[in-house]
Amino acid sequence: MSLKYAVIGNPVEHSRSPAIHAQFARQTGIDLEYGRILAPLDGFVEAVERFRDAGGSGLNVTLPFKLDAFAWAARHSARAGEAGAVNTLRFDAGAEGAWGDNTDGAGLVRDLRERHGFELQGRSVLLLGAGGAARGVVGPLLDAGVARLVVSNRSRANAERLVEKFAARAAPPVFVALDAVEPGFDLLVEASGSGLRDEPVALANQIFAAASLAYDLFYADAPTAFVRQARDAGCRSACDGLGMLVEQAAESFLAWHGVRPQTEPVYRTLREALHAEHVAPRTPAR
Ligand code: NDP
Repeated sequence: MSLKYAVIGNPVEHSRSPAIHAQFARQTGIDLEYGRILAPLDGFVEAVERFRDAGGSGLNVTLPFKLDAFAWAARHSARAGEAGAVNTLRFDAGAEGAWGDNTDGAGLVRDLRERHGFELQGRSVLLLGAGGAARGVVGPLLDAGVARLVVSNRSRANAERLVEKFAARAAPPVFVALDAVEPGFDLLVEASGSGLRDEPVALANQIFAAASLAYDLFYADAPTAFVRQARDAGCRSACDGLGMLVEQAAESFLAWHGVRPQTEPVYRTLREALHAEHVAPRTPAR
């Protein structure tokens, strides 16, 4: 009988995770089904428990449930514990409660290093956003040797809650208000969902012009608002988060099955599929 997995979120209909895990399964010969679960905003726990009780083995968790998933999991990986957010749940047979992990940051770091050739050791990084995704990437960026990490966000309170979680680190992140950010970063990481709104972020052009890479966690079938903004402002390089999506999925696959799948062929297939959708859209433009 196939192992059963799914991604749970709201909205979730555009998630590429089923296609990614289907390709990983073919590559590794693991027999699994991977679906999508649209949970009501006030019904996350009920939806997770229904899936588990029907024989599910694990879930990926996406917006807006990563903090709920952390609260619901009985045990956590160290990186999920530090982030206070979970994007991967595993229901181990015989174990009391579910195990929660956060693979977002590992996915970002791997994409930066291996696909974009960007070394993080000693670098200065600006992180925009303080939501579930931002929480997941802070620890792995620090682990990768980032020398200075500034978090900027619309809501000061949310950003301060985030930086407080990492206060014990040797080089802890600091909060700087959006209108007080100054040029001097090697890497700009956008995690405030500007791509979803298709609008620019409130950063001066000089900040982009001085940076080596602008990285948008959001991805799309055409350059995202942040990627366009960075290029127009003279940033040396800019990319979206499709590579991170595939890499965080591979980390989840490893946590569930003990095998690390190859990501490059899956990344290429997805990029080509996105391009084809852009050239000949199947659904009205998002
Ligand atoms: P959350 O809803 O948890 O967080 C949203 C963040 O965006 C908060 O910091 C929020 O600020 C900010 N924000 C929301 N609306 C606005 C606005 N109108 N103006 C300015 N800031 C705003 O989302 P996630 O953290 O889960 O996701 C963030 C982005 O990362 C999304 O685009 C998502 O698609 C992407 N992502 C990509 C992944 C990948 O693998 N490539 C993985 C995970 C996420 P405030 O605190 O003030 O509310």
